[in-house]
Amino acid sequence: MTTYFEVKKKCALCGAESTFEVIGSSSSFGSPDLDLRPPLLLRSAIDHAVEVCPKCGYTAGDIEEETKVKPEMMKVPAWETFDGIPFKDELSKNFYHAYLLAAAVDDQKTAFTMLLNAAWASDDEKNAKAALACRKKAIPFLNQVIEKEEERERRLTLEVVRADVLRRAEMFEEVEKLYANWSCGDKLLNQIIKFQRRMAKMKNSKCFTVQDAL
Ligand SMILES: [Zn+2]
Repeated sequence: MTTYFEVKKKCALCGAESTFEVIGSSSSFGSPDLDLRPPLLLRSAIDHAVEVCPKCGYTAGDIEEETKVKPEMMKVPAWETFDGIPFKDELSKNFYHAYLLAAAVDDQKTAFTMLLNAAWASDDEKNAKAALACRKKAIPFLNQVIEKEEERERRLTLEVVRADVLRRAEMFEEVEKLYANWSCGDKLLNQIIKFQRRMAKMKNSKCFTVQDAL
């Protein structure tokens, strides 16, 4: 079960106060997807992973949090054109806005997370074109995040996530190139990578869960 509560938040950019629903607690059942998207129940939480200030349009995971974003960063062509990505739903667009701002202030981790969320939201809308474009765009950010990650376990997990993002972006050859000799001490992660390589060879870009890979 997922519980929500309402909080008043003050926009870090314009100071306007507005009310948002935030997640109190959540439980989930089932197997996550191979890019670590949580299983069913938690999926609905995606609606709450991005906030938009109703006054100035500032968009972020938490609009109250201190930020280097400046209002003029929202006055770029991509804010309206979405760089040509054919989004159909508001949620995907909101994530893309949050990505644009994170990229503008060089926050690669948030840029990656927001693009992956935009891809998930587009998956839910069966908008395959938009989802694919978001994953393609997410890869360079993910590469930088991986490069900077010093903690070994986290780095390995991110590398496993990257195999999925690449495959679902139909970059099948990249999967083989990067992961042909990939292995670590973790049996589960090795199994997932083996599965990803097998699916990439079949040019299969579908969504799979961790359970599918075992
Ligand atoms: Zn605002």
